[in-house]
Amino acid sequence: MRHFLTYGAVRRAEGRSFRAIEHQQRNADMQRKQARNEKEKIEDQLDALRLASAAMWELMKEKLAVTDAELEAKMDAIDSADGHKDGRYRPRPTTCSCGAKVNASDSICIYCSKPVERQNLF
Ligand SMILES: [Zn+2]
Repeated sequence: MRHFLTYGAVRRAEGRSFRAIEHQQRNADMQRKQARNEKEKIEDQLDALRLASAAMWELMKEKLAVTDAELEAKMDAIDSADGHKDGRYRPRPTTCSCGAKVNASDSICIYCSKPVERQNLF
């Protein structure tokens, strides 16, 4: 059985499709703008952390006479501590008495609210 649409029905359907596409484009533009803003914010935070790290390192070299080689060796040791030498700092999670994995830097389990021994400051 064939079904014929009237010219008006086709035009209305086209209009709905066009408005739906415009709506999707506006949402995509908004999401793109939001993502760009978040990226810039993260880059600003990263730059601030980089600056703070550089300043702290310069102070440590001046006041404690530690060397770049010592810093690199310590970074390698910490990087390797989680079993993956990947240039990242990801401390192993601890296990709460409820059985949940808890970030090493947290002092309270987010699942049961019990205090857990903080394994790491960072
Ligand atoms: Zn827990």
